[in-house]
Amino acid sequence: MKYTKKCPKCGSTDILYAKGYTGSYGSGNNIMYGATIFSAVDVDRYICGNCGYVEHFVRTGDIERLRKSKKIKQVE
Ligand SMILES: [Zn+2]
Repeated sequence: MKYTKKCPKCGSTDILYAKGYTGSYGSGNNIMYGATIFSAVDVDRYICGNCGYVEHFVRTGDIERLRKSKKIKQVE
């Protein structure tokens, strides 16, 4: 939906966007990969306004931060 502007499940083009953020104590939509909010990566969401399907995206510039974390594992 991020790239196609179209829901892959129902075909709707009614797509909503929720920008990821990190608030106090790690609230918000993010991935915590360390002990503090300084080790949080924001997760953006795209929501289908018709069927409710949701896609989640970490910003590409943050991927290496996750890869270096001991809490994040590579799927074998
Ligand atoms: Zn849909």
